[in-house]
Amino acid sequence: MSTSRYRAGADLGGTKIQTVVVDENDHVVGQARVPTPKGDGPAGVVAAIAAAVRSAAEDAGIEPGALSAIGLGSPGSVDNDAGTVSRAFNVVSDWTDGFPLGKQLGEALGAPVQLGNDVRVGTTAEMVFGAGRPYHSLIGVFWGTGVGGGVVLNQEIWTGRGAGGEIGHTVVRLGGARCTCGRKGCVEAYAGRMAMELEARRRVKDGQRTRLFDLMERQGRERLTSGIWDRALEHQDRMAEELIDRALDALGAGIASVVNLLDVEAVVIGGGLGTRLGQPYADRIAERMLPHLFVPERPPAVHVATLGDLGGAIGAALLVKET
Ligand SMILES: [Zn+2]
Repeated sequence: MSTSRYRAGADLGGTKIQTVVVDENDHVVGQARVPTPKGDGPAGVVAAIAAAVRSAAEDAGIEPGALSAIGLGSPGSVDNDAGTVSRAFNVVSDWTDGFPLGKQLGEALGAPVQLGNDVRVGTTAEMVFGAGRPYHSLIGVFWGTGVGGGVVLNQEIWTGRGAGGEIGHTVVRLGGARCTCGRKGCVEAYAGRMAMELEARRRVKDGQRTRLFDLMERQGRERLTSGIWDRALEHQDRMAEELIDRALDALGAGIASVVNLLDVEAVVIGGGLGTRLGQPYADRIAERMLPHLFVPERPPAVHVATLGDLGGAIGAALLVKET
């Protein structure tokens, strides 16, 4: 293994790929961001990640060949032993089968690659460098397109048999709204940005009014992004307020249920919507948790993630620390 001081971390998302280069003290010395390519399948994604890692190295003023290793946080089912990622539908809509992402990225960059789940990696970063630093146990809740989660117990990420932490698929209403996972009544069916947009479109079809889609078109977007939800709330758009309210209720019930089970010290709220709406909304989630908490007089602290857009990539770089 190379003795280089520098490692890279990459966070593969549905809309963008964020990369960082860190030094031996885990300080970010370079970064880059590129859109996630949609047209060329997983192979196109590998090429884009490799290009973004090279750009981050350039930003750091080092040769890409000087990187000792690369960590990659990916959505979908990640098998680090096999070096494969499957079911990453957020990234490429027909990405079903296991694709050798680790091997191909390693060949492209000439350095070893470790894979991790994007949300678990982001939670680890918040524990080590972010809002979770003071705590031994916490859950990370990534409120964005979906609702991802990570569990930290005794300062170690708990992944169970590999899929642990899926707080978005905690059931908050039996027989409830259809979730993007195909099941019913999950937190994500009410709070995921994708599910919220589907519900908004359904309500518009029913004749209800909202500025959400006007704001979307004015910004030249095709999706209701976190920024558009934020702006609609600023305009006191009634439908946006109702749907966010419904999301807060689901998050409050789902997170409180997990707290009842694990009694963690803290909850860290990240993700596109979570970080965009910020601490006032984290406080509202904390309020919505209270009626469901078994020990309401001792609720966990609820903080917004502090590492922002770089958290996932910084956490990915931790996958290859001291290799
Ligand atoms: Zn679900």
